[in-house]
Amino acid sequence: MAIDNYIGGAWVPAAGGKIDPVVNPATGDTIAEVASSDAADVDAAVASARAAFPAWAAKTPRERSETLLALASAIDDNVDDLSAIEMRNVGKPQSIIGIEMDLSADNLRFFAGASRTMEGKAAGEYLEGHTSYLRRDPLGVVAGIAPWNYPLNMAVWKFGPALATGNTVVLKPSELTPLSLLRFAELTADILPPGVFNVVCGQGETAGDAIVRHPDIRLVSLTGDVSTGRLIARNAAESLKRVHLELGGKAPVIVFDDADIDAVVTALSEGAYYNSGQDCTAPCRVIAGAHAFERLVPALSAAVGEINVGDPFDPDVAMGPVISADQQSRVSGMVDRAREAGAEVTVGGTRGSGPGFFYDPTVVVNPDQRSEIVQREVFGPVVSVQRFADDAEAITWANDVDYGLSASVWTSDVGRAMRMTKALDYGCVWVNQHIMITSEMPHGGFKQSGYGKDMSMYALEHYTEVKHVMIKH
Ligand code: NAD
Repeated sequence: MAIDNYIGGAWVPAAGGKIDPVVNPATGDTIAEVASSDAADVDAAVASARAAFPAWAAKTPRERSETLLALASAIDDNVDDLSAIEMRNVGKPQSIIGIEMDLSADNLRFFAGASRTMEGKAAGEYLEGHTSYLRRDPLGVVAGIAPWNYPLNMAVWKFGPALATGNTVVLKPSELTPLSLLRFAELTADILPPGVFNVVCGQGETAGDAIVRHPDIRLVSLTGDVSTGRLIARNAAESLKRVHLELGGKAPVIVFDDADIDAVVTALSEGAYYNSGQDCTAPCRVIAGAHAFERLVPALSAAVGEINVGDPFDPDVAMGPVISADQQSRVSGMVDRAREAGAEVTVGGTRGSGPGFFYDPTVVVNPDQRSEIVQREVFGPVVSVQRFADDAEAITWANDVDYGLSASVWTSDVGRAMRMTKALDYGCVWVNQHIMITSEMPHGGFKQSGYGKDMSMYALEHYTEVKHVMIKH
């Protein structure tokens, strides 16, 4: 039996009666069927969110905060169940799933606390006989459209700040990975009033598009591909709704000759292949000085050759499959074209055997700066390594892509680290580190990686309007 949409606190089948299959990428088996929605379902969800908005917006920050804390505890209390769902639906290994479950609960606890500190700037008499003050009001009904790589966590980044600031939400998970958000919806039933939290499942072009065009939705937040972001920004313009876009990345990892190469190898062999490389901040594009390059390539290739790939439920496995047959073909095609263009594949470069969508952890050495493997997001377990001549070339190459989400610099020279962090055109720059994130700090891109920040106080601000009140006296 198909899993329905969650609308107004009830389980409702898609109005058109359509369903989408959900596949386990480690086996290729269909593991569930889920409602495939269209505009009528989105209308119903928006109507329920609108009806719930006044009462939810009227709650005190303390009341909403306590509700979010209860949602965080619901994740903790059901962590085994939610983890097993993500492992089956996304192919995430047991060895890493705890990190994002912990992050999701922590994100909600941060939003619960931080929302109680929201304020307008100080009141004052800016015209004689008049006092002005500022309020921060919720927007109304807001929508979140999530990708497949961190299904529950990316949804938390949308509904956490939205609910904390008094909005009600309509969420659409990826059609490939709806199961964890649907299970979470079930957990909200005893915690949130009906209509505050709604989940509508389905395809991007139908359910997603209906959300983007809906006149009663005040903001749409997408985490997804750059091409999807462009389309959504264009379509949302018709109703002038706010758009928040967290899009792709192609993170440079600049390694200077004075860097701790062992630390770089550890960061790459863990971070670049984490979640099968399907991470928008993955350290996937190494740019190394000549001496660093000579030491790094053999050490990295050896470490990557040791990564244990296989069944996500095997506790010793470090990397599972990629999400789909399409993604497997995309990764394979990009590596094959890099090889044909003259780059050397020192390890990997092959599809895994078996029924699931596996691709071996791969290192591609000496691709051309203008080549596809350097310029485009692979979103798979592939790292490229280039050799730069001097600092100026390192910066030029690092910034010479359309994306601007995250980057890292590896050096023991503090002055060089300072110059590099200033010159890098990225929303997050790590020094001697890569991929770590924290609830208090913003996550979001420059350039084609989108606009708007997730996590931190900046996310909370996005989900509110500043209202000026002036009183004559
Ligand atoms: P995608 O763009 O294909 O899909 C994302 C979501 O958008 C899905 O729910 C999909 O159904 C929906 N969608 C697709 N077309 C739509 C349309 N016309 N209207 C409305 N909704 C539509 O992305 P994906 O393949 O699920 O995820 C991978 C992408 O996400 C990668 O590019 C990755 O870099 C990016 N990503 C970015 C971040 C970040 O924080 N910047 C985090 C994770 C993933």
